[in-house]
Amino acid sequence: MAGGYAVPAYNFNNLEQLQGILMGCAETRSPVILQVSGSARRYITAALLPHLVRGGVELVRSLDSPIPIALHLDHGDTFELARDCINSGFSSVMIDGSHHPFEENIRLTRQVVEYAHARGVTVEGELGVLAGIEDEVTSEVSHYTRPEEVEEFVGQTGVDSLAISIGTSHGAFKFKVKPGEEPPPLRFDILEEIARRVPGFPIVLHGASSVMPEYVDLINRYGGVMEEAVGISEDQLRRAAAGAVCKINIDSDGRLAMTAAIRQFLAEHPGEFDPRKYLGPAREALAAMVSYKNRQVLGSAGRG
Ligand SMILES: [Zn+2]
Repeated sequence: MAGGYAVPAYNFNNLEQLQGILMGCAETRSPVILQVSGSARRYITAALLPHLVRGGVELVRSLDSPIPIALHLDHGDTFELARDCINSGFSSVMIDGSHHPFEENIRLTRQVVEYAHARGVTVEGELGVLAGIEDEVTSEVSHYTRPEEVEEFVGQTGVDSLAISIGTSHGAFKFKVKPGEEPPPLRFDILEEIARRVPGFPIVLHGASSVMPEYVDLINRYGGVMEEAVGISEDQLRRAAAGAVCKINIDSDGRLAMTAAIRQFLAEHPGEFDPRKYLGPAREALAAMVSYKNRQVLGSAGRG
């Protein structure tokens, strides 16, 4: 917060995504939060995941200028899941009780905080609900965070950071807008009111992909169908990162970058069938996207 930038939290589900994120962050000397959802952990398998990430950490440590790396559970929905992740080596977990009534959200979050803090692990909570669809999370409508609830929630739970809802949205189809129309702006008035009530407390933005048009265009050009995919403008993310927002989650832009590269490669090389041939360029496209975000949007480059 003091530096006026946000630490990136990039989601991954496989080896090439992990490599691409680490390559992009090492190259820009950015701290990074590696993030997996519960379903990503099941996809990788809970047994393999800690070893995969330890390997990634070793890889980065062997470089000339190593960067700080956290492993974070995204949208943990039960105490048991958070506990299992903590016990398998995660350095941070999110417990998302935002779909519960306020008191139950406090109870569940406090339970995870007590377990996590006793083991040196940090916890992210959530107040308010984002619209959109992504892995564990599906909601048709968003409910903005109520600033008047934040002090009590932070005070009673002891969380280390808080995800809020100010108009971002999960997934690649965040808003229904007509061609030429801008999506609705983020509610910076809510963010500022929260920052006033809990000064110095780190805020997290979820659903903060820009749904970068160059990738959507490539996907559509090479056989994909992604019409009307639209995201959060980079200017708004820069403004959030300069203020109380200290962690920005990016998943969809990474998915789009890889899918665009894979579609383009396979369309241009229809005879190739070696997975390395198309996953390699996809990994590079992801690393380039990560470098760009760190340098141009989040301001995290050079902070590692
Ligand atoms: Zn989220």
